[in-house]
Amino acid sequence: MRNTIDIDLVERLRASGHRLTRERQLLLDILSESAHLDAEEIYRKAQKTLPQIGLATVYRTLNLLKELGVVRTIDLGENHSHFELCADEHVHFVCTVCGRVTDVPMPSALRSAARKRGFDVRRAKLEMFGVCDACAKAKRRPEAPKP
Ligand SMILES: [Zn+2]
Ligand SMILES: [Zn+2]
Repeated sequence: MRNTIDIDLVERLRASGHRLTRERQLLLDILSESAHLDAEEIYRKAQKTLPQIGLATVYRTLNLLKELGVVRTIDLGENHSHFELCADEHVHFVCTVCGRVTDVPMPSALRSAARKRGFDVRRAKLEMFGVCDACAKAKRRPEAPKP
């Protein structure tokens, strides 16, 4: 899913006294093109445009963007974080076999359940783990007879 960078996000950066540096702009561009990347993947993509960028800068920038609420981390059951823009709210289906992540819109039933209880949702995070269609099919395929 391609998220467009919300003008709001850029404004939030400016309002907090942070300039939109080339590094910050680049990371936002990378995250708007592909979600769910981890820091190493973002670093490798960033190097293609800014070869001199360091891994430490990437981490520092990601942390800043996270503090400002522009970027959020998601836990895909690995021992490191993946990042995405806080552009819209969605649920993640995470395949535990191949690691594929599918974005699914937040079910409106959850929203109305919150409303019924007078609960004001400020942010949401939901990851569901299972096996994707392709992995399930691969598993069903009969194994080649052993010699
Ligand atoms: Zn899979
Ligand atoms: Zn996502």
